[in-house]
Amino acid sequence: MWDWLSDKYDLLATWIFETAIQPVLYQFGLMDWAEDAFTWLDFFLFGLVQVAVVYAVCRPLEAWRPVERGQDRRAIRTDVAYTLLTRLGVLPLLGFILFFAADTWLSGALADSGWIPPTLEEFFPILRDIPWLAMLVYIVVLDFFEYWRHRFQHTFRWWWALHSIHHAQKHMTFWTDDRNHVLDDVLQAAWLGAIAVLIGVPPGQFPVILTVLRVAETLSHANTRIHFGWLGERLVVSPRFHRLHHGVLGAGATGKNYAVLLPVWDWIFGTANFERNRFPETGDPEAPQAYVSGGWLRQQWEGFRQVARALVGRGETGALPPGPHQGALPPGPPAGP
Ligand SMILES: [Zn+2]
Ligand SMILES: [Zn+2]
Repeated sequence: MWDWLSDKYDLLATWIFETAIQPVLYQFGLMDWAEDAFTWLDFFLFGLVQVAVVYAVCRPLEAWRPVERGQDRRAIRTDVAYTLLTRLGVLPLLGFILFFAADTWLSGALADSGWIPPTLEEFFPILRDIPWLAMLVYIVVLDFFEYWRHRFQHTFRWWWALHSIHHAQKHMTFWTDDRNHVLDDVLQAAWLGAIAVLIGVPPGQFPVILTVLRVAETLSHANTRIHFGWLGERLVVSPRFHRLHHGVLGAGATGKNYAVLLPVWDWIFGTANFERNRFPETGDPEAPQAYVSGGWLRQQWEGFRQVARALVGRGETGALPPGPHQGALPPGPPAGP
């Protein structure tokens, strides 16, 4: 099944390349770029398939049991722009390049130092014989690091200045998943890329693992009144679980449910909320107006401004990052004008 799919996919990619891209490159004397163009096309198609799959799953769920009816189309359109740019455009390519750059750099640095970090497969040789188990372990490990990256986004003032864009959406749908500042996307790519290299994820498996994490993440943003039941809520992050993280109801809603795929991390680190029938409104009342109603470009620009202000200690995105560390942070300056 998998082979059949990947064969068909290769055929399609080759056909598009030969009919649409190669002639153009040839026409303009750019055949040297053929290989890079094919890599980009591969990413574009991969992104397209991802968007099509999550749309086919999430859209009917949102129509079936919406939490919110009559959402603002304009606000959602901004999130659609984020998704298309992130999944079909430059950013996936950037992630891929960063992964290989990190791989080359780390391998070089390690070779120079004469120390080779033990990969998970060396610790657990059984993983070498059972590839699906190895993949499962990599997913769990990367998900654990994603939990902590998300905690840090809520902990450090400068990082919250970026992540606040994600939380400013009052009309959350599955499109909201990709609503992130480009700097945040770069940090995520570098973070995951470096960890993947360190634990020895084979480069071919990396995109598959990312896809698993992303599909779970997209589904968890859907505007749908769905929970997975007492046990399911504890096994996989649901739309209910993540909506609570985005909730503005206060009283236990902020600083909860950071996990991307496995709620077990929230359970272990004491940040889980499993109330099954709580579907709060989303948004951040303290976010700058540009984050709430601005288009992609305006939000990006404001993000650079906010992160610069946060770094020099004059942040105005909310008084403090919301999160479990709220009490532990030094008191910040009063919110800006
Ligand atoms: Zn968050
Ligand atoms: Zn989210």
